[in-house]
Amino acid sequence: MTPDTAFPPTRDAGLARLRDFLPKAAGDYTRGRNYDLPEQGHPHVSQLSPYLRHRLVTEGEVLDAVLGRFSLKSAEKFVQEVYWRTYWKGWLERRPSVWMAYKGGLSQALDRLHVESGFRAEWEAACKGETGIDGFDAWARELVSTGYMHNHARMWFASIWIFTLRLPWELGADFFLRHLLDGDAASNTLSWRWVAGLQTQGKNYAARASNISKYTEGRHRPVHQLASDPAPLMGPPHPPADDAPVTPTFDRSASWVLVLTEDDLSPGFVLDQMANPPLATAILDGAAARSPLTVAPHVTDWTSAALDSTCARYADRLGPVTPAPEDLGAWARGAGAAQIVMPYTPEGPARDLLRARLADSDLPLVPVLRDHDAAAWPHAKAGFFKFKEKIPALIARRQGLSLAS
Ligand SMILES: Cc1cc2nc3c(=O)[nH]c(=O)nc-3n(C[C@H](O)[C@H](O)[C@H](O)COP(=O)(O)OP(=O)(O)OC[C@H]3O[C@@H](n4cnc5c(N)ncnc54)[C@H](O)[C@@H]3O)c2cc1C
Repeated sequence: MTPDTAFPPTRDAGLARLRDFLPKAAGDYTRGRNYDLPEQGHPHVSQLSPYLRHRLVTEGEVLDAVLGRFSLKSAEKFVQEVYWRTYWKGWLERRPSVWMAYKGGLSQALDRLHVESGFRAEWEAACKGETGIDGFDAWARELVSTGYMHNHARMWFASIWIFTLRLPWELGADFFLRHLLDGDAASNTLSWRWVAGLQTQGKNYAARASNISKYTEGRHRPVHQLASDPAPLMGPPHPPADDAPVTPTFDRSASWVLVLTEDDLSPGFVLDQMANPPLATAILDGAAARSPLTVAPHVTDWTSAALDSTCARYADRLGPVTPAPEDLGAWARGAGAAQIVMPYTPEGPARDLLRARLADSDLPLVPVLRDHDAAAWPHAKAGFFKFKEKIPALIARRQGLSLAS
């Protein structure tokens, strides 16, 4: 199956996936979510991640649908997983230097590929699924051919990459970002760091043959092939957390242009807040910038088609639509705008592009936060287990306010 047919890049396809998954979001997910069963189409997990990552369907919509059907207690596991995404995004947003450090580490590892041929051969074998390690090679091929990998397989894969193959974790994170349809700066970077022992410092994740065999129903048994008792990687302490961002005060009736990135493809919550439609809309697609290497065409094609489907969905509300020019400020001024308003773009490739293209702009930029993020990110200060305690209150707040975003 090609990525296009498994995950059509439209909101309707995301909503259909959510509808199909909904009956399984409680008991079935709780019992079966750790099983990696690609031949059966991963029946116990939602595979909503490409839609959630680009917000063709939002976290809020998924939570509302699930909790409209089940109590928080029965769907707790699934709700927590959705909040892992929110937590990682808030954590990275408040420590942007961790994203910069990843990019720096990746650049150094890529330099080594040019000068160390043995190292390059090992990296290529890992990316092609030619290591001979049972399971690992199948997951590499699944990722490259479908754009998806199950969460448990991502954990095993990352662990084997780091501790058995002893390749730099940044190259593994980059391999994922080049091929995952849901490739995301926060979830990917911080999950790789978590497996390595850099995120929960001193505590790494060791893949075990028995665990792999159990949760692949015996399909893979890499007995005696994996590093046993690997030590965690060492790194600098976490930087102190910045304050959680807030939406700046802005004039809802002043003239404006919209910038749309692939980070939020449901811009209705911004359009609804403004007195008038935008004078024009620029599309800033950061998918090709997810890696310094070539990002797989199935990823860039998917993101580009998802952006197109969003423009079609909002066609009567966006004004003239154009690919984002190099100088966004000059473009916005030329359109007669007093401000640039957009859904908040978190740390990651699209934000990096945005910074560069706004470098010469003196127009006010208004990144509008969704209520979901604004409520949760102040709690993304320390570990997930502290954050998790806030989930019932965050849900109660959502339900009290009947938030649509
Ligand atoms: C090494 C590694 C790299 C990862 N890279 C990414 C990435 O680039 N992008 C990404 O979206 N997720 C990433 N994840 C998290 C997780 O594996 C995927 O979100 C999940 O597998 C997506 O499949 P699903 O939609 O079927 O998940 P489900 O289990 O059905 O979960 C529902 C949703 O909750 C969120 N979610 C679930 N588990 C996690 C988690 N552990 N962390 C964060 N969010 C979660 C996702 O948005 C997911 O779509 C990574 C995990 C690991 C271990």
